[in-house]
Amino acid sequence: MALLDRAIVRVLPAVPRPVVRRLSDRYIAGSEISDAVGAVRRLNEAGKKATLDVLGEEIETREEALAIRAEYEQAMATIEAEGLDANVSVKLTGLGLGVDPALCAANVRSLARDAAERGRFVRIDMEDSSTTAATLDLYRELRSEGHENLGIVLQAMLRRTMDDVEQLVELRPNVRVCKGIYVEPGEAAYQGVEAIRFNFVEVMAALWEAGAKVAVATHDDWLVATALALIDERELGRERYEFQLLLGVREDLADELVRGGHTVRIYVPYGRKWYEYSLRRLQENPKLAGYVARDTLRRLKP
Ligand SMILES: Cc1cc2nc3c(=O)[nH]c(=O)nc-3n(C[C@H](O)[C@H](O)[C@H](O)COP(=O)(O)OP(=O)(O)OC[C@H]3O[C@@H](n4cnc5c(N)ncnc54)[C@H](O)[C@@H]3O)c2cc1C
Repeated sequence: MALLDRAIVRVLPAVPRPVVRRLSDRYIAGSEISDAVGAVRRLNEAGKKATLDVLGEEIETREEALAIRAEYEQAMATIEAEGLDANVSVKLTGLGLGVDPALCAANVRSLARDAAERGRFVRIDMEDSSTTAATLDLYRELRSEGHENLGIVLQAMLRRTMDDVEQLVELRPNVRVCKGIYVEPGEAAYQGVEAIRFNFVEVMAALWEAGAKVAVATHDDWLVATALALIDERELGRERYEFQLLLGVREDLADELVRGGHTVRIYVPYGRKWYEYSLRRLQENPKLAGYVARDTLRRLKP
C-alpha cells in the first residue's frame, strides 16, 4: 500500500485546486472564521467540543507571525461572542519560532493572557522533532510565569517522549498524547505500529499516574479501547481526560464516545492557507494521502 500512497502523492500537484478542495473539504472547515463557527456549532450541537487551528505554519516573516496571532485573537473573540464550546490550538512555527524565538514567545504569552481573560485554553501543537526541545522549553517558561491555561502535545512515536514526561510531570501538565504525524528518522522515532502503540500506552499511564490531564488524540480503535480500560481501572474522573479526533475522521468513533458519556473534542482546521496546508501535509506523509484516497473511494461506492 505504501507504493500506492507515494504514487498518489506524486500526482497531487497536477490535481486541479478545486479537486484538492473537494478532497480536503471533510478535514478543513473552510477558509474563513465564519466557516469554522458553522463547523463548531454543528459539533457542539452533537455534544462535542472543539479546538480551532488557524492554518499557516512555517511562516517566513515577523508580519506573517503577527497576522496569525491576530487571526487567533479574532478566533477567540468570535468563540466567546458566539458562545461556542471551543478553545484554540497553535503551532509555534506559525507564531514565529523559526523567525525569532522571542517574538514567538511574546505571541504565545499574549494569546495565553487573552484566552485566560475569556476563560479559555490554548494548546501548543507539537511539530517535527527539530522543534520539540524549543517547544517544551517555551511551555515550561510560560508555565513558570503562571500561564496555567496552556497545554502541550507529546508524540508517542518519539524515543525521547518518556524522558520528556519525567521532566514535565511536576507541572501537572495538560497533555495531548498522539502518535505523531511527521515522518521522522529511525534515530529519533519508533517506526513500527506496535512500538508506537506500546509507547502511547506507557506515556498515557505515566501521565495519569503523575496526576496530569491527558487528551487522548487518536482514531486507533485499539488505543481508544486501551485508554478506556485504563480510565476505568484508575476510576479517573472527567476532569482527568478527554478524547480528541480530527475533523471529518472516524465520526462513528467520536459519536460512540459521546454516547458513552466521555468528553470528545474535535480539532477544526480553517484558514486561507487551506490549499498549501493540504498539499504539504499529504506530500510530507504519503500514508495520509492513502487514508484520504481510500476514504473517498469508500464514499463513492454505491
Ligand atoms: C486531535 C488531534 C490532534 C493532533 N495533534 C497533533 C500534533 O500536535 N502533532 C502531531 O505530530 N500529530 C498530531 N496529530 C496527528 C497524530 O499524531 C496522528 O498522526 C493521527 O492521529 C493518525 O494516527 P492515529 O492515532 O489516528 O492512528 P492511525 O493508525 O494512523 O489511524 C487509525 C485509523 O484512523 C483513520 N485515520 C487516521 N488519520 C486519518 C486522516 N488524516 N484522514 C483519514 N483517516 C484517518 C484511518 O482509518 C486509520 O486506519 C493529532 C491528531 C489528533 C486526532
